Amino acid sequence: MPLLAKINPLPALSSLFYPAACAVCSGNVEPSDYLCESCRGRAPRIASPFCAKCSEPFFGAITQTFSCANCEHRILHFDSAVAAYRSRGPVRKLVHAFKYGRQRHLRHPLAEWLGETLRDPRLRHRRFDLIVPVPLHPARERERGFNQATLLAELLARQVALPLRPVLERIRYTRTQTAYDRAERMENLRDAFRLRKNMNVRQLHVLLIDDVLTTGSTLSECARVLKEAGAISVYAATAARA
Ligand SMILES: [Zn+2]
Ligand SMILES: [Zn+2]
Repeated sequence: MPLLAKINPLPALSSLFYPAACAVCSGNVEPSDYLCESCRGRAPRIASPFCAKCSEPFFGAITQTFSCANCEHRILHFDSAVAAYRSRGPVRKLVHAFKYGRQRHLRHPLAEWLGETLRDPRLRHRRFDLIVPVPLHPARERERGFNQATLLAELLARQVALPLRPVLERIRYTRTQTAYDRAERMENLRDAFRLRKNMNVRQLHVLLIDDVLTTGSTLSECARVLKEAGAISVYAATAARA
C-alpha cells in the first residue's frame, strides 16, 4: 500500500479549521467556536461613559459628551476611534495569540468584536466609501506572515459589503512603540506612512481599521495622511483598546 493511502488528511484539516479548544483557557468549546462561554463572558466590553474621541472608558455617571484629559491636550486627526473591548484578560490573550502566536484563524472572533463597533452611535448611521487597514512595514509583515489589520478589515468589509482598499503604506520601519512615551511615539511615527501610488481618497469617507488602539498615535498619523490626501472624514475602528 502506498504510504499516502494510509493517511487520512481530513481529521488534521478539520482540527485546523475548527479548533476544539478555547484559544484562551484551552477548555472545551463547540467545534465552531474559538472561545468558551466563560472567557467570552469575561471579555470587558466598553460601555458608556467613555471619551467621544478615543473611547477611553470612565467610571461614574457622566451623561454628556466629553473628551478625556488624554485627548484634550493633543491633536488627534481621526474624527473618532471606536473600540468594542478593553484589551484586558481574555481579550488581551486572544489578540496576543493571534498576532504573536501566528494563529490566523483567531481573526474570526476578533473580527466579530470589531464588527460590534459598527453598532456604536458614532458609526451606526454613517456612510463610508471604503475600509482601509493600518499598514505594517513590509519587513514586519514578512516576519509576522500577515498584517493583522488587513485580515480583520477583510472580514469586516465582507460583512458590511464595503470595498477594502490598502491605500496606505508604511515606509519607515519603526521600533516597537511600547517602549515610548506619548511624545516619543508621535516622533517615532513621523513620516512613517504615506498614500500609495495611484491611490485616491479625495472627497471620500474612510473607515480605518486596526486590531488594537494603544495611544491612538498610529491611527492619528494614518488619519492625518488620509486627510492631507483629501479624505473628508476618517473614523477608526478597532477590536480592542488599551
Ligand atoms: Zn476559555
Ligand atoms: Zn480620549
